[in-house]
Amino acid sequence: MPRILLAECKQEISSFNPIIGDYDNFTINRGPELLAYHQDKETELGGALHVFATDPEIETVPIYGARAPSAGPLAQKDFDRIAAELLDAIKPHVEGADAVFFAMHGAMGCTEELDPEGYLLQELRKLTGAQIPIVITQDLHGILTARMLEHTNGLAIYHTYPHVDFADTGRRAAELLLKVLNGAEPVVARVRVPALVRGDELITASGVYGESIRYAQALEQQPGILAAGMMIGNPFTDVPELCSQAVVVADGDEDVARSEALQMAADFWSRREKMQPALIDIEDAVARASDYDGPVIFTDAADAPSSGATGDSNALVAALRDGGYRGKVLAPLVDAPAVYMAHDAGLGATIPVVLGGSLDSRFPPLDLEVEVVQLGDGEYPSESWGTPEHAGHTAVLQCDNLTIVCVSRSVRFIDRSVFIAHDLDAKDYDLIVVKSPHCQWQFFDEWADANLNIDAPGSTSANLPTLGHSACQRPMYPLDPDVAFEPHAEIFA
Ligand SMILES: [Zn+2]
Repeated sequence: MPRILLAECKQEISSFNPIIGDYDNFTINRGPELLAYHQDKETELGGALHVFATDPEIETVPIYGARAPSAGPLAQKDFDRIAAELLDAIKPHVEGADAVFFAMHGAMGCTEELDPEGYLLQELRKLTGAQIPIVITQDLHGILTARMLEHTNGLAIYHTYPHVDFADTGRRAAELLLKVLNGAEPVVARVRVPALVRGDELITASGVYGESIRYAQALEQQPGILAAGMMIGNPFTDVPELCSQAVVVADGDEDVARSEALQMAADFWSRREKMQPALIDIEDAVARASDYDGPVIFTDAADAPSSGATGDSNALVAALRDGGYRGKVLAPLVDAPAVYMAHDAGLGATIPVVLGGSLDSRFPPLDLEVEVVQLGDGEYPSESWGTPEHAGHTAVLQCDNLTIVCVSRSVRFIDRSVFIAHDLDAKDYDLIVVKSPHCQWQFFDEWADANLNIDAPGSTSANLPTLGHSACQRPMYPLDPDVAFEPHAEIFA
């Protein structure tokens, strides 16, 4: 009767976000709470639980989970607390356990430890010893490290962007784990590619990155291959092993793992130039905005909280104002001080506010006189997943043609959730600011006349060379000129 311990630790950070993250950002699930959180959910553990439930002989033991929205680097002491809680929770259950299933993102980063997941796996391995297999899941934006692989027996990696295969990745990892318990001998080959990529070609259903993904998926259908994936890393998590990497897990066959990983890496490298964003200068975008009859989207990927940015950039609103744009503008903004001022003043009040830049000093605050047209509690469902969003108190502020939806906590702005929560229909506006790495077709592009990807300042700018990477390996395309790729497969068995 196999006993499988379940754990989770997931966050993605931007090293360029100046706000240090803390323990309070995390949802912590202990023991049975972990099952309650994930059972029948579209999550990695949710998908794994379905697999494990098909065999009544399997006993799952939920241990500990910590998950947080994307943010700036995690304070070291707060990571130490999470690591200690997780390891302390696992310790009493190691005796008699047969395997560990560990859902991880892969793009965590702390103020000191730059490979938190590697640390967790290394310390977990000290508890379990070499005999108990540890299988993990990874976001394709994860940064898999040598230390992680040294202490892992296998992994499954997301195959979709935008991500719609959390549960499927959990299913694949769980099936891999069961094969290991039945005698499979995973050999992991990884090839690091010195390239960072961004832009619409990363949308796996339509973009060129999808070709790498489909190759990996085809590999996974082959006998003898346990898993495969093409990871692109989160380009904003500036840590030593940040890069793109081809990963193949074979059953005992080092040669096939190596040759397939090398092939995937070479194919990916050959497509790197296509996987760079086409960005439009802010002033040019403002000048063009009036040319369209229907709604125009300004995609501000540089300030996407879902990628780890603060969400308090006023750069596009300021440029539209300075440029004399007269259409109706709808824009989200993380701005706790403005929200509290609005709540203090009350509905219908007209107040002076300094808008934006309350977190990231690269955005000079904008002096505006605004009318408080709505106040809210920030509790609303995500349009994408139906899961609860916690935006803190909110306020909708009106200034001439600008409608600014302010929240007091960083939340994802990848869809229309925050607008719908305030009964605002994005289609009623001439120009909508979307703080997301990509504007998703079904939420915006389907009905908009144009979507301009703006080259704006921000801690998750797709203009990667402007960010100032200092920790990742160099040279790195496109941060440096004349980057050479010398393929080399590292083997972990
Ligand atoms: Zn991701």
